[in-house]
Order: sequence, then structure tokens, then C-alpha cells
Amino acid sequence: MILSKSFRMSLDIKMSTEEIIEKVIAGEIKLHTIDKYVSPKEAVAVRRSAIAQLTDTGLDNIGSFTIDETQATARNIENMIGAVQVPLGIAGPIIINGEYAIGNFSLPMATTEGALVASTNRGCSVITASGGAEVRIFNDGMTRAPVYLARNASHAKDFINWINENFEILQAKAAQTTRFGELLDVLPFVVGNNIYLRFRFDTKDAMGMNMATIASEAISEYITQQCDIQLVSLSGNMCTDKKPSAINNIMGRGKTVVADVVIPGEVVILKLKTHPDNMVEVNYRKNLLGSARAGSMGFNAQAANIIAALYLACGQDAAHVVEASSAITTMDLTKEGNLYCSVTLSAIQVGTVGGGTGLATQKECLRMLGVAGSGQPPGTNATKLAEIIASAVLAGEISLIGAQAAGHLARAHKQLGRG
Ligand code: NAP
Repeated sequence: MILSKSFRMSLDIKMSTEEIIEKVIAGEIKLHTIDKYVSPKEAVAVRRSAIAQLTDTGLDNIGSFTIDETQATARNIENMIGAVQVPLGIAGPIIINGEYAIGNFSLPMATTEGALVASTNRGCSVITASGGAEVRIFNDGMTRAPVYLARNASHAKDFINWINENFEILQAKAAQTTRFGELLDVLPFVVGNNIYLRFRFDTKDAMGMNMATIASEAISEYITQQCDIQLVSLSGNMCTDKKPSAINNIMGRGKTVVADVVIPGEVVILKLKTHPDNMVEVNYRKNLLGSARAGSMGFNAQAANIIAALYLACGQDAAHVVEASSAITTMDLTKEGNLYCSVTLSAIQVGTVGGGTGLATQKECLRMLGVAGSGQPPGTNATKLAEIIASAVLAGEISLIGAQAAGHLARAHKQLGRG
């Protein structure tokens, strides 16, 4: 019997790491099959060594990390060779008066953008001096929208009627796939003979994208067994995952959160070195008019900055910055001459279990905020994290609009962001 080369290699348990590296460099062992010969930890080192030689690059820094390779390669990454590090800073403390986040919080921010932590810190100080950020969640549900193909519009209409009539069975099919997730509702959309069913799930403390996808798969399997309909794709892009979209801005995805604060006029003068009416003016002409003229989906100054730094620190899916950062910032003068500020974030998708939240450094950041792992009751840690993130965005908006109203922006970047 003739054994294939890869099968012979898989039997060769005595192959040294040096030999494996040589075979990787020679193209005889693929990067993703190294784990067949050595432990996950050794596989990372072997892969790094091979890549270092293939690219003639020293990878000592990439090879210096605390991540558990076995855990990370099992769920977070393929072809791992090491880790890149992002500096971690702290903004705050900030007082938050949410339904879930209540008290003083120090915000972990992972970034390489000089001045960002300082800017957020200044906003936290203003919010805290004003009594804290009020935060409320208005909508909560992770969505997945498979696309199905009908024969024509009348067939599509019959199909949607069947979905509505059988919703409870679909709920039960979803429940079979998860202990924590629950199908909340389904919103149908039609384009000709294409039907998009936007399923919305309560995913408790999980961000929920895997959970929603697995449940949608089980639902779709049942649908295609019962109906004369074709499933085209489990994701029909009306979900909408990781793309800027009007549907997420209008309907929400993940958590829709509003954070606001009334800043006394004297606090604006003392801490931001400007006046409430200047900030209202800058916010109106920049965040509202400028964004409208640009056709922007985000009517804010720097929501993405704060969200990206917190997402990276806390093990969130970084690509969800796209949706979360379509925030609207408002600033109004109150009758008493104080400054009302708010941020509205339609689509904060966060979790405290699953994804990158189990990695040691990310878990420490979540612990710092008191939201690591499953909440009691389940779901309360993810909602608390969403409230903290919205409050941090409010801090960033107040600081940046304040700086622009006072004409300080260029100076801060020059002092803090240049080597
Ligand atoms: P997940 O780790 O796949 O699922 C969460 C797990 O935690 C489930 O097994 C759940 O149990 C369990 N769990 C334990 N305590 C929980 C609690 N209190 N609340 C909720 N669940 C609890 O994570 P996910 O949030 O669904 O998905 C996140 C991952 O999806 C990220 O890595 C992200 O990058 C990735 N992602 C996937 C897609 C996709 O299309 N599949 C798209 C974008 C991103 P049960 O099993 O009983 O539910």
C-alpha cells in the first residue's frame, strides 16, 4: 500500500520541531496543519519560527505575550504566531447613573492614538463634576437575516404569512440550540421574489452573533423542510453585520443606548474653558449640519475613537465599531443657561462571555468594570457594559466639542500626539 506524504508525516511522531520548521519552509507542511504534529503552544512557536525565516524578519516582540495559545487557537484565531500589543490607558473615574451601571468606573482604553485617553479623561471629569451620566437602554436584540428565494411576489407573500402563523414553532426551534438565547421577533422584508427574515434574539450576556447564526440555521432548516422555498444564504445582509446601514440606525441592533448629562455652566467654564452656547453652536454646525452635508451616518465627533479603544481592551469584536459609531450627539442650552448633552447609539453590540472576552488581559479589563462573565441574572453584565460604553462616548463628545469650542484641538494634538 502506498501511503500519502502527509499521512506518513502524521505517523512520524518523532519529528523534531526543527524538522517541522524545515518542512513548513519547504512547503511540505501547511501552516494550519502544524497542530497535528505538536501541541498548540509549540505550533505557535514553530509557525512563528518558520515565518521569521521565510520573511527574514525577527519576530521576538510578536513572540512575547501572555495569551494562552491553547485557548486562543481553539476559539479566537487560526495560524497563530504570537500577539501584537496595544498600549492600555485609563480614563476616569466617571460617575454613571444607569439601570445596570451604577457608581464610579475607571475605563480601560487600548489605543495608539495620543491624546485620546486624555480627551476622554477630561470628559469623564466634566461628567462626574456634573453628577454623572444618566444612561438608559431602549432596545436590545441581536439580529440575523437569512435571504430566501420564492417563485414570485405572491409566493413571497404566502411565505411571509406562513412565517407569522408559525412564529412560536420557530421560537421553539431556536430554543433547542441555546440555553440563553431567545427568538424575540421576526421582521420580513421583500425585494421582488427575495425574502429577508430579520430574526431578532435576546442573547443575554453574549454579543450573540454566533448564537443568532446557529439558531437561524436551525430555524431555516425547519422552514425549508416545511415550505417550498429556497434558502439562499443564512446572512442576507439585512442583519446588518459590520456594515454601515440605515436599518441598524433606525431599528437598532445589539443595544440601543442613550446617555446624557446636564453640565452646569460654571463647570463648562472651569473645566472646558469655553461657554455652553459655544458648544451648542459647534455641535450644531459640525456634528449636525456638517455630517448632514457630508451624507455621514455618524452625527458625532469621535464616537468611533472611544468605542474602538474600549472594544479592544474588553475583548469585543472590533469590526462592530462600524455599527456602534453611527451615533448622534446633541447639545442644547437649558433655560438656566446650563448645557444638556446626549449621545444616542443605535447599535452597541457587546458581550461579556464568548468571543475575545475569555482572553486573560481582556478579562482583566472586564473585571475592572465589574462585568466579566455571566451576569446575575444573565444579561445584566452585557447591558452594564453597553451603558458604560455609551457614557464613555458621551465623555469623548463633551471633551472634543469643548476643545473645538475653545479652539484647543490642535494644541492638544501637538503636545500629546507628536514625538
Ligand atoms: P459564543 O461564544 O459563540 O456564544 C456564547 C456562549 O456562552 C454560548 O455557548 C452560551 O451558551 C454561553 N453562555 C454562558 N453564559 C451565558 C450568558 N450569561 N449569556 C449568554 N450566553 C452565555 O459567542 P457569541 O456572542 O454568540 O458570538 C461571538 C463571536 O461571534 C465572536 O467571536 C465574533 O467574532 C463572532 N462572530 C460570528 C459571526 C457569525 O456569523 N457566526 C459574525 C460576526 C462575529 P449556549 O450555548 O447555551 O447559548
